[in-house]
Amino acid sequence: MDVGRRILVTGGAGFLGSHLCERLLSEGHDVLCVDNFFTSSRRNIEHLLGNKRFELMRHDVTFPLYVEVDEIYNLACPASPVHYQFDPVQTTKTSVLGAINMLGLAKRLKIKILQTSTSEVYGDPMVHPQTESYWGNVNPVGYRSCYDEGKRCAETLFFDYHRQHKLAIKVVRIFNTYGPRMHPNDGRVVSNFIVQALQGHDITIYGDGQQTRSFCFADDLVDAIVRMMGTPADVTGPINIGNPGEFTIRQLAELVIELTGSRSRIVSRPLPADDPRQRRPDISKANELLGWQPTTSLREGLGKTIGYFDHLLSTSVAAE
Ligand code: NAD
Ligand code: UDP
Repeated sequence: MDVGRRILVTGGAGFLGSHLCERLLSEGHDVLCVDNFFTSSRRNIEHLLGNKRFELMRHDVTFPLYVEVDEIYNLACPASPVHYQFDPVQTTKTSVLGAINMLGLAKRLKIKILQTSTSEVYGDPMVHPQTESYWGNVNPVGYRSCYDEGKRCAETLFFDYHRQHKLAIKVVRIFNTYGPRMHPNDGRVVSNFIVQALQGHDITIYGDGQQTRSFCFADDLVDAIVRMMGTPADVTGPINIGNPGEFTIRQLAELVIELTGSRSRIVSRPLPADDPRQRRPDISKANELLGWQPTTSLREGLGKTIGYFDHLLSTSVAAE
């Protein structure tokens, strides 16, 4: 990989964005991190602020952005159901207007742009495991729609800019990813269970806990999207990125209890509307085109994530 590019990361102060900024800096690039801190805090990127090659800009991607860069990773968007349902109109605006603004920037500069799409484009899938050729089963008017349909429309925009304006695009569909720097209050299952276990609170399983998810560790994910950016021009995606290991939510709860040594009880709570019943990526394409597969087991990744939250909770900044 050639070094010394100036790379824009939107949503760069978020959970995945901060890991990506770190990785790009470590490869010798200049990084421009753009974020409006809607779901993140400066704490995630504080350790990068002293780096001369790192620049932070507070900006909302629903407004045009005029900067000069060589590549764009577009991550800006709230990702957890609690966060994206908090202001659903803003969520759709972020996905759709954010995509239009970043694609416009890429078009003016004639540069590559990568979109972090999501397994939510498959909705509550009728095909299992999910392959990229599956068109999905998405409710267009439900509580999750602002996110699912916003991301689907963003994919449409990426492919239309590619066909209409010959723009170099890369689209990855990310399946549930976890790790250090997840927001402790974002309501996602991994952060919820770990925080509950560490604090000795009840572990809240929604529904019967038999729904499944596949959990990918952040470092594996970042490795895949950096590889995707480096692929030849004819590789546009969409490409699934995730860990094909599939676990029920109950299995996850039991593993978190075991690894934390917690005495928390498991309790049941109502299942949210349109909660997908099962989810597992088919990653054959990622394997073939990126030479990639995840290397971190759930047990190992959870261990690292538990270590992070343990430290965070003991330093009393968790509520930020
Ligand atoms: P996150 O909430 O930690 O990060 C998102 C970042 O985007 C935050 O820093 C937030 O402040 C910023 N942001 C939100 N709206 C913005 C706006 N209008 N302008 C500028 N910045 C804005 O979430 P994450 O897990 O790091 O997700 C990053 C990307 O990956 C998102 O696009 C998400 O949809 C996608 N993704 C994540 C997962 C996952 O499991 N983590 C799964 C599928 C897709
Ligand atoms: N979930 C749960 N307890 C929680 C949080 C989530 O049982 O405290 C469930 C949720 O209903 C879903 C799964 O865990 O079935 C994954 O939820 P998350 O919000 O992490 O991601 P998504 O539903 O977007 O995959």
